[in-house]
Amino acid sequence: MEDKLDLNTGWQKIITILEERVSKPTIKTWFSNVVPLQILNGILQLEVPNKLVKNWLENKFHVILLKTAKEVFKELKSIEYIISSNEVKKTRIRKYLFSQKITIFEVSPSTNLNPKYTFENFVVGSNNELAFAAAQGVVNNLGEKFNPLFIWGGVGLGKTHLLQAIGNEIVKKYSTTKKVRYATTEQFTNELINTLKNQNIEEFRQKFREVDVLILDDVHFLSGKTKSQEELFHTFNELYNARKQIVFSSDRPPKMIPDIEERLQSRFEGGLVIDITPPDFETRFAILRLKNQERAYYLPDYILEIIAQKITKNIRELEGALNYTAFKLRSLKDATPEKIETLIKEYQRHNIKTISPKKILKIVAEFYNIKEEDLTKKIRKKELIKPRQVAMYLLREIGKLSYNSIGELLNKRDHTTVLYSCEKIEKEIQESFDLFQEIEVLKNRILNE
Ligand code: ADP
Ligand code: MG
Repeated sequence: MEDKLDLNTGWQKIITILEERVSKPTIKTWFSNVVPLQILNGILQLEVPNKLVKNWLENKFHVILLKTAKEVFKELKSIEYIISSNEVKKTRIRKYLFSQKITIFEVSPSTNLNPKYTFENFVVGSNNELAFAAAQGVVNNLGEKFNPLFIWGGVGLGKTHLLQAIGNEIVKKYSTTKKVRYATTEQFTNELINTLKNQNIEEFRQKFREVDVLILDDVHFLSGKTKSQEELFHTFNELYNARKQIVFSSDRPPKMIPDIEERLQSRFEGGLVIDITPPDFETRFAILRLKNQERAYYLPDYILEIIAQKITKNIRELEGALNYTAFKLRSLKDATPEKIETLIKEYQRHNIKTISPKKILKIVAEFYNIKEEDLTKKIRKKELIKPRQVAMYLLREIGKLSYNSIGELLNKRDHTTVLYSCEKIEKEIQESFDLFQEIEVLKNRILNE
């Protein structure tokens, strides 16, 4: 009976099992264009779209794929990957539709976690596999194995993603029996300042001490902040003594954080310290493939390959280049490799320039036809709400300012107002294509003028 199992049905079965063993997004990313051709002399022949996919399957999936395939087709001995002969037509590409069906993720108020960051959509490569394994170790041995877990690495390499994924996985696994709290160090510090102002330290302590898992992102930010360091030190001790799990991230190892108390530094080093480095080409390509699918851009592999070759140091930038390329390609008829390279250069030029906040305010004011001081002064007028929010968003996105400095710049507005505005615009961009375009126009002006 097994022998007579129809090839396509069997293949579907294999995919279903793999989705459970690996993860749906990963399998979808790599197997959506893989077609079973035949089984010849015990060898399953698979047609794959190109060399990159072939390499990835051979290097990363072969063992598990063969094992699974053998469970379905009992006589199977091996698998062969054959590159498809219908090579992608590189110059004739249809217009890509910018997907308007993007899932909107809401940050959970009780945990402060964003559900968009999961283990499943975290691509594991040689640059992050140890950190990933440690993260999984934490989830499976809360407070026991790696405590604290301290993950460090450069900007845009996936620290926040991994930290939040730990939190989300714990929520998924233990449901409400384990209390998780995620905070950036900026949030921790700001809340502490507010707490001291309003004299409700108990509430603050409850929030950060009565948890089973505390995840604190970007602790290098504690540098020079004595009060926050002290509070964190005591928070740490209380949690640690109660065998609660603590996870930290930083852009550098504990020893290299300047202006930090030694006792806190030594707590950071007391568990497992592990780094994430920039991804290799294969991993970059894999990340692009996953994001390309998630966002329904449907850019062909050769475009992703060019992006992965050109952007090497930062995954946020890699994503940015993908978004930029997808967006620009809506109006490009011939996406030749040369054009793609030009687009990436354009994107990189935008990205490296540092932009003065003044310029951002000026251009936003011009765009909305208001005075620059209308953005900064505290004048209550309904029509000023949106331009102000857009200004705050752009000051953060392109100006790279902290919420606090944006608040300062806009006439001592509270950082929570700034945070709220930035998040609001970020969300609305995904919902409204008009706003998306408006922001793109603004960005272009700011970056090019
Ligand atoms: P960091 O906190 O180190 O600055 P982030 O975690 O914010 O970096 O990552 C930047 C972006 O890159 C995020 O959108 C994140 O989802 C993505 N990213 C980083 N690493 C990976 C990975 N291994 N797989 C998938 N996406 C990743
Ligand atoms: Mg981060």
